[in-house]
Amino acid sequence: MATTSEDCIFCRIIQRQMPAKIIYEDDTTLAFEDIHPQAPVHLLVVPRKHLASLTETGAEEDALIVHLCAVSAKCARERGRDPGGCRTVSNYGERAGQTFFHLNVH
Ligand code: 5GP
Ligand code: ZN
Repeated sequence: MATTSEDCIFCRIIQRQMPAKIIYEDDTTLAFEDIHPQAPVHLLVVPRKHLASLTETGAEEDALIVHLCAVSAKCARERGRDPGGCRTVSNYGERAGQTFFHLNVH
């Protein structure tokens, strides 16, 4: 699996070639505000490595997937505005509504 893809907007955000409101980053993961928010707080958590979707991962990405969930939880704790809860979603493929083919967790 490629580590970056030149025609991928999220890879370009990760490489700072495109602007985004980045709110968290570490060695493997970035979180930034969705450009078309569907909720008062709408963030995307993405791996630095270019992976098309959760179904396009292998056992070697297990720890990374767990980490994406951990970062989502951290962002929800620190940024969430509704004490009643929040939702995490990752669309797998076109028929599920995935529009950007760089693995992302909303
Ligand atoms: P998907 O369809 O892959 O599940 O979600 C892709 C998300 O990326 C959408 O919610 C869309 O609003 C967001 N998005 C698309 N282009 C950009 C962009 O250039 N910058 C940011 N921050 N978000 C984007
Ligand atoms: Zn990418």
